[in-house]
Amino acid sequence: MKSPSQTNAIDFDSAKLQRLGFGQQPRILERPISLAQVRQQLVLQLQTSLEPQRILGLFFREIQRLVTLDALSYQHKASDLRLEFGQRGHHSISYSLSHEGEHLGELTFRRNQRFTEQEQGNLESLLSALLFPMRNALLYRVATQSALRDPLTDTGNRVAMDQTLQREIDMSRRHLQPLSLLMLDIDHFKCINDTHGHSAGDEVLKAVAASIKGQLRNVDMVFRYGGEEFLILLSNTGREAAAMVGERLRFATQTREYLADGKSIELTVSLGCSTLLPGESAESLLRRADSALYVAKREGRNRLAMAG
Ligand code: GH3
Ligand code: MG
Ligand code: MG
Repeated sequence: MKSPSQTNAIDFDSAKLQRLGFGQQPRILERPISLAQVRQQLVLQLQTSLEPQRILGLFFREIQRLVTLDALSYQHKASDLRLEFGQRGHHSISYSLSHEGEHLGELTFRRNQRFTEQEQGNLESLLSALLFPMRNALLYRVATQSALRDPLTDTGNRVAMDQTLQREIDMSRRHLQPLSLLMLDIDHFKCINDTHGHSAGDEVLKAVAASIKGQLRNVDMVFRYGGEEFLILLSNTGREAAAMVGERLRFATQTREYLADGKSIELTVSLGCSTLLPGESAESLLRRADSALYVAKREGRNRLAMAG
């Protein structure tokens, strides 16, 4: 028996436009809805969004006016994007989307019934409406993601931190799970700059960030909060566990070897830790971690202080 799975490559640049339904007369009007109509609707609808999730969701919904499906899945490895709609089906057809040599992802249609030749032709035709919206969405994603990173330390920036913190607070409430926050500040960092220069300071910042990330499960939750300050969000982590993570970070950053002008330099960090209280705001959680950090500094640095 023929395998139910097929893989096809769709290259929108090649002279497939004819087959894809361009230049065709509108199809028989007595049909509830024609290919040309669905295509036209799709083109209009898909350009209203830059979110891959929304674009593909609309696509999945609209194409079913012509071809019934059980599921649609999409994957774009380069941007670590994977989306699924619907249930799984036994038969599948996959398409690899590309434009001017640029890979735009793999798309798989599934359903329990076999696809007819005509349905396959329709799907291919409708796929062409996905090309520009998907390409724009992927470009937008790259742009917005880089706008959320700190380029020096490759951690999240302030904007990313604000978004993530609010999202984690909401999640913590919804799932009744604890959430803790660590604020980490390099001790006497100004001396490192003054003694070894700003670029040596930059190298040290990168190394501290790497050492923090090296200790954590979820590196997406590390943010550069200020010049030489980092914020670490610990989801599903209560006070005691957060204190342990904080101590581990203090130890890891202290024991790493830092080089300035080829010479090894000593470095320590101080940390403040707060754990979300019922009904507490993001600002208050941050403020309590900051006050705890201040206590750690005042009590001699190279230590962790817990918010009251
Ligand atoms: P404390 O132990 O109290 O935290 O002392 P500190 O010297 O670390 O703190 P202070 O706030 O006095 O100085 C922070 C220094 O960090 C001053 C600033 O020049 C430096 N800094 C901030 N951003 C950067 C950066 O991107 N690169 C470098 N090399 N230095 C930076
Ligand atoms: Mg400092
Ligand atoms: Mg500071």
